Amino acid sequence: MADIIQLLPDHVANQIAAGEVVQRPASVVKELIENAIDAKASVIKLLVKDAGKTLVQVIDNGSGMSITDARFSFERHATSKIKTADDLFKLNTKGFRGEALASIAAIAHVELKTKQEHEDVGTQIIIEGSEVKEQEVVVTPTGTSIAVKNLFFNIPARRNFLKSNTVELRHIIDEFHRVALAHPTIQFSMYHNGSESFQLPASNFRQRIVNIFGAKTNEKLVPVNETTEVLTVSGFVGKPEYAKKTRGEQFFFVNNRFIKSAYLNHAINSAFDGLLKDGTHASYFLDLTVNPQTIDINIHPTKTEIKFDDEHTLYAILRAAVKHSLGQFSIAPVLDFER
Ligand code: ADP
Ligand code: MG
Repeated sequence: MADIIQLLPDHVANQIAAGEVVQRPASVVKELIENAIDAKASVIKLLVKDAGKTLVQVIDNGSGMSITDARFSFERHATSKIKTADDLFKLNTKGFRGEALASIAAIAHVELKTKQEHEDVGTQIIIEGSEVKEQEVVVTPTGTSIAVKNLFFNIPARRNFLKSNTVELRHIIDEFHRVALAHPTIQFSMYHNGSESFQLPASNFRQRIVNIFGAKTNEKLVPVNETTEVLTVSGFVGKPEYAKKTRGEQFFFVNNRFIKSAYLNHAINSAFDGLLKDGTHASYFLDLTVNPQTIDINIHPTKTEIKFDDEHTLYAILRAAVKHSLGQFSIAPVLDFER
């Protein structure tokens, strides 16, 4: 028998990887904004057309890239953020896998413009389905603009699988909220089909929550602050009387990264024990800071799930911190009495 194993060409490998990293337009939003944050941008603008199906563009005023890096950024496993596997446990960047741009470029039309501060001119690159169509010198502001057009143009099955614009836009707004909440000191704006959806000035966590969820939110928030050796918790929980039937406003951030955790969610619910009416859900906005060596972020390509070394301790601290705050605001005793 002849040998039959072959290495997949890069563009095929990239398309396969894209299946994991890019599920829908909102995934592109997440990856591009995270890159802008990693580039230390202070102003980030998101432009979306047709719920991201036609265009997702992120413009930042961050570090920009050199000519060589601009080209290299689209290679798979090309990253400026880690050098060794050990670095995975000292992460202070959102990215590290070096596969987002390569994946996106494999399944969309991408236009990159980027310039570093000390340069007079920048670089423009146009890529379609992993193929570089154009690379030239352009006049462009310091920072980076990446426009992703016609997502899944070469994978009709994926394109057809996209949901209605209403649903896809909802996913985009959810990602935008998450990343904007995780980084209140960065100025964010979002435009859909040319009209402004959000304008969020640089501010603090409380003000960012209010700017996103409305002025009424302010009076609902109870501060939570706890510092222990293994965990710092800061943020807010919603007063129980404002609890809603939907789960919408539930946010955990671990080292400035939005994460989902049914286990930690349970810790909060148990802290609210008896305070919530049946069928309602507490809202919370909680920043958890832990030693990066005690978590593993690299368990899923989208990085929304992480593994904690000592989940049980975190659970206990979180529960106690929330209970304490609810008690301090004399919410618990009043409701206890009513029961
Ligand atoms: P990762 O973020 O995991 O490193 P990406 O594919 O998202 O991988 O990006 C590859 C590289 O391109 C990054 O490591 C970074 O050096 C560069 N890059 C991407 N986006 C930007 C940006 N907005 N500003 C500056 N550099 C960027
Ligand atoms: Mg990235």
